[in-house]
Amino acid sequence: MNIVVVGSGSAGLLSALILKHKMPLSKVSIIRDINTKVIGVGESTFGTFIDILHNHLGIDLDEFVKYVKPVTKYGVLFKFGKKDFVYSFQSLFDYQHNNNEYPNGFYFDGGDYGHSEHSKYILKREHREPSGAVHIDNKLFLNYLEKLAVQRGIIFINDNISSIEREGDIIISLNEKYHADYFIDCSGFKPILSKEKFHSYEDILVNDRALFFRTKTKQKIRPYTQSSTMNCGWLWEIDHSQGYTGNGYVYSSKYITDEEAHKEVEEKLRIKIPDDSRVIKFKTGRLEKHWVGNVITIGNADGFIEPLEATSLAIILHLAIYTADIIRYGDKKGDLIDRFNIHANEYYDNIRDFILIHFCFNNKKNTRYWKDYKKRVTKLPKDSIGYDILQFYLVNNTHVKFMSHVFKVTNPFGLEGWYSILRGLIPTETDRKKWLVKLEKGG
Ligand SMILES: Cc1cc2nc3c(=O)[nH]c(=O)nc-3n(C[C@H](O)[C@H](O)[C@H](O)COP(=O)(O)OP(=O)(O)OC[C@H]3O[C@@H](n4cnc5c(N)ncnc54)[C@H](O)[C@@H]3O)c2cc1C
Repeated sequence: MNIVVVGSGSAGLLSALILKHKMPLSKVSIIRDINTKVIGVGESTFGTFIDILHNHLGIDLDEFVKYVKPVTKYGVLFKFGKKDFVYSFQSLFDYQHNNNEYPNGFYFDGGDYGHSEHSKYILKREHREPSGAVHIDNKLFLNYLEKLAVQRGIIFINDNISSIEREGDIIISLNEKYHADYFIDCSGFKPILSKEKFHSYEDILVNDRALFFRTKTKQKIRPYTQSSTMNCGWLWEIDHSQGYTGNGYVYSSKYITDEEAHKEVEEKLRIKIPDDSRVIKFKTGRLEKHWVGNVITIGNADGFIEPLEATSLAIILHLAIYTADIIRYGDKKGDLIDRFNIHANEYYDNIRDFILIHFCFNNKKNTRYWKDYKKRVTKLPKDSIGYDILQFYLVNNTHVKFMSHVFKVTNPFGLEGWYSILRGLIPTETDRKKWLVKLEKGG
């Protein structure tokens, strides 16, 4: 099998490593244009990241820690809603201390941080050996993946792809000289191989920019990502073991200018933003089809959802593993590619809905941006699993163990994830009743 990957950002490197690991006899090459830089952001990861690196890429975790020096991430501290709360990657709602009537997540401690004693414990934890999720320095991570790829026999070619020879949906060659059985398009926000239509989410998730900058870490490393409510979006803070904190204000240009966003951050953090800060523009949405003919599109070329739950690397890994499995086992009935496309759409849409609920129910600020987001609860599709979970939660406020009898969830967060966020944002019965009326009236 001969596979050509275009692009050596995290999407290209991770896809190539997965394909090579699952099909060691295949020839895998990466073509990248050294004059088109990788995006170079992406510092936070999700609950099963480390497991996937180990189990699907065959990465030696000691070596990974040695090179990348990640920081353990136990969850996200959301400065959202009435009371700050923690979205923990360790289940809060599936576990119950012996003497309690309900699972742990039900017990608010009355302090600053919601959910439970367990959350308080997470916030006090020290950064230790990584497991589950981590914070990574993007450059170190990419350097490490590239080193590994070379060791494993993946071929690197520096070239700009400027011509594509096609026969229908099949790519025959790139630049008239690169041939392959499969081409993986990981060329970033402007896909060069895929011709598929973009399905925008911009009427649902309105953010389209991120002001990204680094500051010196002043406090002890926080082993969690912090996400705070801003006037027209949210601010991430991610501590690294290299002595810096990555920060980003994700906002909507429909509500605030770049200059206003800059000023708001400086006032909030009481800092002067460094001169090497960057404003990154992005489009939220996904392609309508991800695999067409012999081309599979992965990474920013395929779709993008703002990093509120650090989901991009999750989507990349999930779709690259699925791709490798279809290629190596073959599509005997001839319908796996259709199923792949349907599944990928559901996966993206589910993440979109999960991110949407973070915004709709955040009542920390009353700016036009947040008022408009409250109305957007009606954008949660009525036939979606997210709508069902939300409605069930508002009516029953039951716990995950019970809900799992009711819902079969195959989304990246599980019921626990949905429940943690709903419980954090809509903790009281009064609020649940109020929102139920709104939801059923249509917003
Ligand atoms: C503000 C922001 C914050 C983010 N934070 C997170 C996070 O915390 N966690 C997370 O999981 N994700 C995060 N992401 C997403 C993350 O950036 C992406 O998932 C990841 O970087 C994937 O990028 P990529 O590999 O698709 O594209 P890129 O990094 O842009 O790489 C594109 C590659 O294609 C090559 N290329 C392009 N054109 C050509 C051509 N014509 N010929 C040859 N080669 C070509 C380039 O040389 C390059 O190697 C964030 C994204 C943004 C915008």
